[in-house]
Amino acid sequence: MGNKLKAVVVGAVLGVAGAAFAQGTPTTPAAPKADAKAPAKAAAGKAAATAGKTEVTWWGHAAFVVKTPGGATIAIDPWFTNPKAPQGATWPEAVDAILVSHGHFDHVGETKALAQKTSAKVYGSFELVNLLGLPEAQGMGANAGGTFTVKDATIHLVEAVHSSSYQADPKGASQYAGAPLGFVIEIANGPTLYHAGDTGAFSSMALIAEQFKPTVALLPIGGHFTMDPAQASVAAKLLKVKTVVPMHYGTFPALAGTPDALTTELKKTRAATKVLALEPGKATAL
Ligand SMILES: [Zn+2]
Repeated sequence: MGNKLKAVVVGAVLGVAGAAFAQGTPTTPAAPKADAKAPAKAAAGKAAATAGKTEVTWWGHAAFVVKTPGGATIAIDPWFTNPKAPQGATWPEAVDAILVSHGHFDHVGETKALAQKTSAKVYGSFELVNLLGLPEAQGMGANAGGTFTVKDATIHLVEAVHSSSYQADPKGASQYAGAPLGFVIEIANGPTLYHAGDTGAFSSMALIAEQFKPTVALLPIGGHFTMDPAQASVAAKLLKVKTVVPMHYGTFPALAGTPDALTTELKKTRAATKVLALEPGKATAL
């Protein structure tokens, strides 16, 4: 997203605080509060009792927190202050890995603050991770083709068709941030998740299916910067997934695709794929 468009789109939607964020005013991201009464925390605690399950919590936009049966907590594109983020939710206390698909502000989000708080390792493109200026032990710069193990999760970095730049100072120039990425997360005794990042549909999704056999795809459906519902239905077919979790919609007016539209498109293809529209902040067992 260009600077100007970003300011217009985000500023219009987020109001003063959000615009300040979009423009890079040093934010104090909703620092993790020790508020045991926060509803999201209570919900997460309850869901955590579901032993042996993989839990996925959508934080709105492209942000997710995945908890595996083996105790790994993985945050993906943690823009925890997005307009659809669950109100009053507390950040995860412990995070093993943060996956960042590309350098745009709505995906890097609060990566640095979360990494600082939890000492999590940050996985993303080599160039982006360098630009983030993390402590050496936490920066896991890599590229498509890379595979990493985090407890019982095996994470593969895969391609995405998009762009990637990073602005450390949003009033300054955009810096090249390497190639955009998607992530396949194979969870022992659990599902194989595919988080597509920001992307259009591309034929190599069939290769992702062949190599990793994902069962659940987290796909952008908003359009404008990514796939829309019609294209996401084509992607689901290439990926041969049973379930699609829609993301990257509704955050701004430009991201107009809806889960209902995706369901309609999938019906047209007579695919058996189900749409699982998550509610922000609610942990869902997969
Ligand atoms: Zn993007």
